[in-house]
Amino acid sequence: MENPLEKLRNGELKLYALEKYMKADEAVGVRRQYIEEETGTSLESVGSYSIPIERVVVRNIENMIGCVQIPVGTAGPLPVNGEYANGTFWIPLATTEGALVASINRGCSAIAKAGGADVRIFQDFMTRAPVFAAKSIPHAADSIRWIEEHFSEIKEAAEKTTSHGKLKKISTYTAGTSVYVRMAYETGDAMGMNMATLASEAAAKVIEEATGLRLIAASGNMCCDKKPAAINAVEGRGKTVSAGVFLSDELIRTVLKTEASLLIEVNTRKNLVGSARAGALGFNAHAANVVAALFLACGQDAAHVVEGSNCITTAEAADGGVYVSVTLPSLQVGTVGGGTSIACQNECLKLLDCAGDGKAKKFAEIAACAVLAGELSLLSALAAGQLGKAHKELGRG
Ligand code: NAP
Repeated sequence: MENPLEKLRNGELKLYALEKYMKADEAVGVRRQYIEEETGTSLESVGSYSIPIERVVVRNIENMIGCVQIPVGTAGPLPVNGEYANGTFWIPLATTEGALVASINRGCSAIAKAGGADVRIFQDFMTRAPVFAAKSIPHAADSIRWIEEHFSEIKEAAEKTTSHGKLKKISTYTAGTSVYVRMAYETGDAMGMNMATLASEAAAKVIEEATGLRLIAASGNMCCDKKPAAINAVEGRGKTVSAGVFLSDELIRTVLKTEASLLIEVNTRKNLVGSARAGALGFNAHAANVVAALFLACGQDAAHVVEGSNCITTAEAADGGVYVSVTLPSLQVGTVGGGTSIACQNECLKLLDCAGDGKAKKFAEIAACAVLAGELSLLSALAAGQLGKAHKELGRG
């Protein structure tokens, strides 16, 4: 195409349509130049990237102008004793928060000296909850009865849209004449949000036709996607994972530089009582720090840090030491789909041997153990009064 910049300026060409007329890199370059001129801002660094973007501009982003580079560090080695993840891992973490990787690294070291972290997945499904309007309360009740009695019919319609998605459970909720149908799917190695949405749209059609309910929206917010919500904490969404480790009194003294009783007291007064007093949904020290850095490095949907970082951390006295655990009820991860195939993110997944088919549960187990490492380190730093010191040394330069 001749003079695309001129055509953008005079409105002959739409900014989003550039890829139709030229290769992806060229389109991104022209768009960036146009935005630079329009705004008088140099985007030299944003325009400097190494990843192939032919698929990215189709699958992952619109109106692309370049990339933001986030530093990636690694914490480890982290030994994991899971059902799907068994071995020692170097955790890729993308962050701009000084001291974070160092802190998780210290937790990994404690876990390694303790013989590794145990981890199990207790539940695994992604949810989508369309909202319907009923004509009256009795109509809502009759419709719910129909849904309960026709699960296999609804399941059949949903599963026609996907080869990996399996509808496992339906829960219904009402508020007046609003009817919410929360559908829970196994989604293989995909995080599953697109998959569950497409399947639920097909299922909703069957429900609408049979019951006379009026479909209002494919998502009625009882899913509950990307909002802090008790339903995800209680019922689960994505993977429900727990990781734990026994730390002996000696290890707590020599590696974490604190005492078992202090560790337990900090956890109780801060993570449990403090969070309760604040009305927080999460009962942890900084699970979001680890989840966000891991999600960014590994091509996960960054907005799922909202639910993915919901976490209860416990520290209980055990014979000769302390048992520390984290439980993440709604960790939404995938090793196929979404951003997992973008070159840098895919390399980070490969670093964990978690790229592609058959790896999502392994990735979830490693993620929970990384959160445990982060919790251990911050809790013990607080207990030892070392938090300020670490930030002064590593966060300021
Ligand atoms: P996706 O990018 O849609 O990819 C899933 C696809 O991978 C499906 O087509 C599936 O095929 C296929 N697949 C191949 N091998 C698979 C395997 N081993 N396990 C599972 N699937 C396999 O991924 P998604 O996880 O469903 O959705 C993620 C995307 O949804 C992210 O980009 C996220 O940002 C976005 N998102 C969407 C919504 C929404 O409401 N639509 C909301 C939040 C986020 P089959 O289906 O044929 O089995």
